[in-house]
Amino acid sequence: MFVNFLDYKLKAKDGQLVKLGRFFPSSKTCSCCGHLVDELTLNVREWDCPKCGKRHDRDGNAALNIRNEGIRILSNDGGNPVVAVPRRSKTNKPRMWKGICQ
Ligand SMILES: [Zn+2]
Repeated sequence: MFVNFLDYKLKAKDGQLVKLGRFFPSSKTCSCCGHLVDELTLNVREWDCPKCGKRHDRDGNAALNIRNEGIRILSNDGGNPVVAVPRRSKTNKPRMWKGICQ
C-alpha cells in the first residue's frame, strides 16, 4: 500500500518510482568507499568501515546507498534522475553522495 501511494504521488509530480532488489546491501555497504562488510547484525546501529575508517549510522548510511543506487539505475535506464534529487548541482545534473570520507 505504501509503495502504491508513493508511486501515485511521484507520478503526480512527474517522478518515477525505482524499486531496488530485495537483497541490495544498503546497510552493509560503506557509502564513502563502497566497501561491503560481510555481516552486520540488526542490533548494530553504528559501525566503522574497516577499509576507510568512516563511522556510519546504520540507517543514514543505508539511506545514502539507496539514494545513490536509485540515481544510478535511473541514469543507466535513461530515466529522469533529477526528480530523485532534492538539491541540484550548478549543472542541474544529479549528484551522487560521496560521503564525508576523511
Ligand atoms: Zn569505507
